[in-house]
Amino acid sequence: VGIAGLVPTRCAICGTTENAIELYPASLRDADLNPTIFSARRSPDRVHYRMVRCRSCALVRSDPIADPGNLGALYQQSGFDYSQEVDNLRATYGHFLAKLAVRAGGGEKMPSLLEIGCGNGFALVEARLRGFHTVRGVEPSTEAVSKAALDVRAAILCDMMRPGLLEAEQFDSVCLFQMFDHVPDPGGLLHECWTVLKPGGHILILNHNVEAFSARVLRERSPIVDIEHTYLYSPATLSRVCVANGFAVRESGRVWNRVRVEYLAHLAPLPPMLRRAARRTCDSTGIGRIKLALPLGNLYLIGQKLPISGRQESPDHGLRKEP
Ligand SMILES: [Zn+2]
Repeated sequence: VGIAGLVPTRCAICGTTENAIELYPASLRDADLNPTIFSARRSPDRVHYRMVRCRSCALVRSDPIADPGNLGALYQQSGFDYSQEVDNLRATYGHFLAKLAVRAGGGEKMPSLLEIGCGNGFALVEARLRGFHTVRGVEPSTEAVSKAALDVRAAILCDMMRPGLLEAEQFDSVCLFQMFDHVPDPGGLLHECWTVLKPGGHILILNHNVEAFSARVLRERSPIVDIEHTYLYSPATLSRVCVANGFAVRESGRVWNRVRVEYLAHLAPLPPMLRRAARRTCDSTGIGRIKLALPLGNLYLIGQKLPISGRQESPDHGLRKEP
């Protein structure tokens, strides 16, 4: 499969480009590179770049990829449809936002939070309920920002996170929900997070786990093998990327997603008649409203800003040449 204008990527831990084995060949065509493919929560369609794994670090990445310079435009035009999932996500993310608020000293300290890739800002609404006094969001999709609730819309910058967008050392916490594995330069983004955090501030990263049971069983058919995912992390590789960029890992593990039974019925691959019957049963019995906690293949990490960033120790981090 040949696509014009693809550029090589490098391991975000050791910086090498060649020291990798191929996991899956590319499945995309030129026509696949459009804004729809970069929309939040679109249906899985198995379009992906060639995927490789670093021989030294085990970090999985897409290679080669479309010029990251065009990615901003793709995400700016991308759509936004979380449908009925937002309630489940608010409950799942809220659990971690509460942890962050406690680490920031609790409500009386009036902590501040930045969410990068905040979509319509639903997690910012939740963050206020969980003890954050000030919330800010950064989100490139104009459609997503236009759907934000009025009371958080003014707190959202419609932009890509980039150097100089926000003042240094102003946030107690930064969170990245289901976006860090979309980023073409994880070291660069972590440096921006490090910069805007106050000394001792915390970062929360939550995304897919490439070593989750479903990912190991489904392999290339897993929905996480996707053109949107520049990197795919395991608990070990996510920790190493954070440590290399000025954070101490304080906590990490698998994510228990909060979901209602009716949402599982919606996800299940049932024929329409059975699906309708399942929905009727959920509605008439109240079973549908029951909440469960399930490990749906995600991981999280909470890191704390150290006094020295990875970049200051090695100014060419992420840009270094092959050894
Ligand atoms: Zn590596």
